[in-house]
Amino acid sequence: MDTSVRPGDDFYLYANGSWEKNTPIRPDRSFESPASDIYDRHEEKLRDLIENAAKVQDANSRRISDLYRSYMDESAIEAAGVKPIESHLKAISAISDKRQLARALGETLRADVDALNMTNYHTANLFGLWVAPGFNDSDHYHAYLMQGGIVLPDREYYLSDSPAMREIRGKYEQHVITLLRLAGFDEPEKRAARIIALEHAIAQAHLSLAEDNDVHRANNIWKPADFVFKAPGLDWPEYFRAAGLDKQANFYVWQPGAFKGESALVGSTPLQDWKDWLAFHTVEQYASVLPKAFADEEFSFWGKTLNGVSVQQPRWKRAVAVTDAHLPSELGRLYVQRYFPPEVKTEVQEMVSNLIAVYRQRLQGITWMAPATKAQAIAKLDALYVGIGYPDKWEEENYEVKPDDVVGNLWRSRAAKYQRERALIGTAVDRKRWCMAPQTINAVNLPVQNSLNFPAAILQAPSFDAHAPAAANYGAIGAVIGHEISHTFDSEGSAFDSKGRLRNWWTKDDFAHFNGVADRLVKQYDTYKPFKDLALNGKQTLAENIADDAGLTAAYDAYKASLKGQAAPEQDGFSGDQQFYLAFAQSWAAKLRPSTLRNEVLTDTHSPDHWRVFEVRNQDEWYQAFDVKPDEKLYLPPNQRVQIW
Ligand SMILES: [Zn+2]
Repeated sequence: MDTSVRPGDDFYLYANGSWEKNTPIRPDRSFESPASDIYDRHEEKLRDLIENAAKVQDANSRRISDLYRSYMDESAIEAAGVKPIESHLKAISAISDKRQLARALGETLRADVDALNMTNYHTANLFGLWVAPGFNDSDHYHAYLMQGGIVLPDREYYLSDSPAMREIRGKYEQHVITLLRLAGFDEPEKRAARIIALEHAIAQAHLSLAEDNDVHRANNIWKPADFVFKAPGLDWPEYFRAAGLDKQANFYVWQPGAFKGESALVGSTPLQDWKDWLAFHTVEQYASVLPKAFADEEFSFWGKTLNGVSVQQPRWKRAVAVTDAHLPSELGRLYVQRYFPPEVKTEVQEMVSNLIAVYRQRLQGITWMAPATKAQAIAKLDALYVGIGYPDKWEEENYEVKPDDVVGNLWRSRAAKYQRERALIGTAVDRKRWCMAPQTINAVNLPVQNSLNFPAAILQAPSFDAHAPAAANYGAIGAVIGHEISHTFDSEGSAFDSKGRLRNWWTKDDFAHFNGVADRLVKQYDTYKPFKDLALNGKQTLAENIADDAGLTAAYDAYKASLKGQAAPEQDGFSGDQQFYLAFAQSWAAKLRPSTLRNEVLTDTHSPDHWRVFEVRNQDEWYQAFDVKPDEKLYLPPNQRVQIW
């Protein structure tokens, strides 16, 4: 803590200031948090599981250790040179007309985006596929297509005029040139200029992240023929044939404008530019698992330039991350067996039940909501599936893993995932399907399934500790659980009914009230400026800010209820309420490098951690707990505090 800061001036610094001041960011990190040690231990646990898997003689364990080994075997990678991607580059170089280009583009389509669960809107492929329950038919899986085609994280990196962004663009150009040169291309400067010009044009056709978040804009069903008329340029029948989607009767097109713009670019831009673009994207995608010169260049741009990290993570950590990303369920099974005691599941289940009970009470008590809307909201809460620890049914990750072919392994993994997701289209939805691996330290709401996942790995200290006081557990994991539940009713979640259909179940007045309050939250977060040239985007982060607002309120109520009328024990001179809010603020302690923070402000749908903590200024009980006065910076008069639920 830094008690020289008044809690009402900057509650984040009051709770975390001394830690922030005295904690250097280690050179191989883009950020630090008090939980960094736990993250480190977590990685070691995963490595132990992987290394032990090598000793077990069953096929699944073998694949885990082979994948890990293929990444670790630097001499094999060095010896192979660019050979592992050569056949792909040759195929690109042989493209001789736009029809063949369409085929090549279709073959690159992957299930690598996820609009509403993992909120990942980025793919460097021309488009991305997300398979999920249909907005208008939530009983079946449908195909959602999303914009893509740029390597940098967001359109702003191409379009923004700020000096910092211009500098990043300059370094990106050098990065493209370097990778092309390493891969053996002639005239890398000229090619790089064309590739970047094409990406710039694609970025201009893209929607912004704030616009992407609006599900109503995304509810566009196109039949295959519509693509030809609404987005001419690309040879769509050929594209869909190559992607194995030519039998699909319809698609959800998330950003129609981007499809029109990108397809037109396929038609109007010279073939050679597209071939360079495809070749570079292939090299870029696999550079980190090519020889050292490639991997170093990759780190130099993505680590140093984009995230300000000066030293690369040790190879074993990267190998763990790759194994985790490409065999998440296989590794998850081992993780749960070894590290997730059944008692934790029971205890967290109880916290979840308490929080749901609080939400039900709050919904029943709301005065502005019509009874009809209320009944629907409660039905939604009752139908919510809450997954704790791990899924009932594990995903099958069937692809060949070879101990000496890391590029091939990743290629086959991505292709297998695509085929797995593609095969789901049209089948019945399993609402208990998970989208996050048990060994992930995170939690998620799946709005179209009306469900939540709390992976085993987040149900450990510091988020949850069976021996900690209730105030600490409710302020930390309680607020996270409350956050996830409230996504059910945030600006996005509230658009879906109890079955996950995109359907307006609100009365006009209730919806207007909700939007009015949400608008005030947008304005509140718009005022925060982490940089002179960059403020938070209240609209882009609205759903998450609503979830923080409602989640903290509910966690507080559930905490109070858990005391069953007893006074909370003081600790280190802090009252129960003070402990609760401090635990909340300390659970978000994180020190970021400026470039990482900038990236986050631009591409994340969450507010950065420091500003997430400012949510307390909307909570009446926080003012009482810390005796916050009107002259303090976070002070809001009662009528300006935003309470959504
Ligand atoms: Zn969230």
